Amino acid sequence: MTDTSTSSMTDVVAADVRAVWHPYTQHAIMPTPLEVVRAEGAYLHTHDGRRIFDGISSWWVTTHGHCHPTIAAAIAQQAATLDQAIFTTFTHEPAARLADELLAVVPDGLSRVFFSDDGSTAVEAAVKMALQYHANRGFARRTIVALENAYHGDTFGAMSVSARSVFTDPFASYLFHVIRLPDPMDGDPVTAFDEAIANHRDDIAAIIIEPMVLGSGGMRMYDASIVHALRTRAAAQDIVFIADEVLTGFGRTGPMFACGHAGVSPDILCLSKGITGGFLPLGATVATDVIFRSFLSDDRRRTLFHGHSYTANPIACAAARASLRLMNAESQAQRDRIHAIHTARMATLACNRVVQRPRVLGTIAAFDLSLGDGYLSPVGPELAAFALAQDVLIRPLGNVVYVLPPYCSTADDLDHVYSVLDQFVSRF
Ligand code: PLP
Repeated sequence: MTDTSTSSMTDVVAADVRAVWHPYTQHAIMPTPLEVVRAEGAYLHTHDGRRIFDGISSWWVTTHGHCHPTIAAAIAQQAATLDQAIFTTFTHEPAARLADELLAVVPDGLSRVFFSDDGSTAVEAAVKMALQYHANRGFARRTIVALENAYHGDTFGAMSVSARSVFTDPFASYLFHVIRLPDPMDGDPVTAFDEAIANHRDDIAAIIIEPMVLGSGGMRMYDASIVHALRTRAAAQDIVFIADEVLTGFGRTGPMFACGHAGVSPDILCLSKGITGGFLPLGATVATDVIFRSFLSDDRRRTLFHGHSYTANPIACAAARASLRLMNAESQAQRDRIHAIHTARMATLACNRVVQRPRVLGTIAAFDLSLGDGYLSPVGPELAAFALAQDVLIRPLGNVVYVLPPYCSTADDLDHVYSVLDQFVSRF
């Protein structure tokens, strides 16, 4: 932190500065964090009375809005009834019913839900399922295919399938080899996939993609026809097709799941973030019956030996069930309204010469600023500070600016966000 004198800080911030190590935070140069005391709808309220619009849904998790009373009530009720139970000996209503309810809304053909903790662990489980699926059937397929600029999480398997970047540099020599296809926003991953199949047909176990938008890689959006073409080719070669919908699931791109844009079903679907409406951590890896059945055997070595202490935590599952019930026509109308506002305002913003590649997908809007390049570009923190001073939370990915609001955001809320962005870009 730049200012380590604690005299002007609240007790909470002083304790934080003394004791906490924040994620993705360079403590030597970052400003002290703000103390948030409560949240409601699309707003975070700070200790000093500020009301800050959550323009990034608190790291893409908040769907309906903060502290939605329906989800809060479901959590309270569940917490008073069954807090936690080991998910091997036991099952329980929140998990079993949630699995059923998820299967009713995920793309066709998926039939088993494996619970974990977050997006990274949902991906870890998916990668392990795909590799062991082949191994259990007696095939030694070892290679995973992934996209350039992909991001799938921060654990080692998830890092391995993610693009090599400033996030992974210190660990590069520990990450497993992946066949990398071009980023679909700039290149042709389909032809590259064809070439990879021609060269490594019997060794490719799986392909993992973020359908329709590479999130952390820069909100890089691409056409549904590419998702469709990759899926078709994978199916023809018995290559497990993993759709990482940790960001895109639960309506973020318009339809319930981004695979819906392409009309495809994956072999494995990774879910997290919005699954609980943004209240509690929960991951789910949803697989087809074919994959599940490859693990059934008298030989216990064919078991999926993967799990986490809090697997299928009843309170998180209750939150997810309540959140699913809120994914109704009203939610769709909210998302459609955000999409329409994004589309109109990005068109205006794009008239500024520093705004490049404006793009919108469902509730996500993004553009590149020509003022910098890459994740460490200083223009990102500069814009974040400019917006925060006007009570808008946005967190550019380097020179990539995006708005990803909770679904309850109003036209007035978004008008303020876009006027802040207009002011910033018109300074150049
Ligand atoms: N997959 C995708 C597409 C993501 O965007 C993220 C996080 O941003 C993850 C996986 C990792 O999720 P988590 O941060 O919950 O581990």
